Amino acid sequence: MMDTLLLEEMTWEEIQSAMQAGFDSVLIFAASVEQHGPALPEVTDTVLGYAEGVDLAKRLGNTLVAPVIRPGLSKHHMCFPGSLTLRPEVFRGIIEDYISAYIHHGFRNIILMSSHGGNFSALEEIAAHQSKCYPEICIITGCSLEELDELLIQMDQMEGLSPGTCGGHACDWETSLMMMIDERHVRKSRLQKGLVGSLCGELLERFFRDGVKSVSENGVIGDPTSSNADRGKRYFEIYQRMQEQIIRRKLNAWHNHS
Ligand SMILES: [Zn+2]
Repeated sequence: MMDTLLLEEMTWEEIQSAMQAGFDSVLIFAASVEQHGPALPEVTDTVLGYAEGVDLAKRLGNTLVAPVIRPGLSKHHMCFPGSLTLRPEVFRGIIEDYISAYIHHGFRNIILMSSHGGNFSALEEIAAHQSKCYPEICIITGCSLEELDELLIQMDQMEGLSPGTCGGHACDWETSLMMMIDERHVRKSRLQKGLVGSLCGELLERFFRDGVKSVSENGVIGDPTSSNADRGKRYFEIYQRMQEQIIRRKLNAWHNHS
């Protein structure tokens, strides 16, 4: 067994022998470099992308993990210092170049994933378009943003938290995950409540159109003040299990049709 499933940490010889041994799938995570409230660093979605990618690759088997892509599509976070955002065509170009490179190297299943809400719909469009360009290759995405939002509501219920605590950004969910990975990521004295309540309808429109600050002064959507690493473990397990099931279902559907 190899020490790492991260392509960027492997030598070309290790990658070649992994592929000869049947590793024919690659997970491509798109993350972000953006504000995550007063307590979490800009690198948050990137750290989560690596953690989710490596764990998913183990669950799926025969799968390697591409270098996590960032920045992403974060226009709505530009109202806070430090955030980066890519032009949609630049983001699309990077994803397309990753796809063509890994197909060139012989991967047969390309799984496009996002650890940042703003990338989800763009990835779905890119996957649909690229599937037409490479009909012999299985190109899929993980869960939809709606499925993730649904899961966040369930997480609040499971943990007995008030609705909106896992609001989706720098919230109890993301902060607990970061604590699970490494407590040092979190400025505990700076944990603050943000917008708590459901981000939908007019509020959601304003969130994307006028920026995060127009709905939350500190950039937090949710309430991270009672976050902890144990909860992070439970969140991680349930989220990863959902992603695994969705990916397996899509992979099976594609291979049974072809
Ligand atoms: Zn995030």
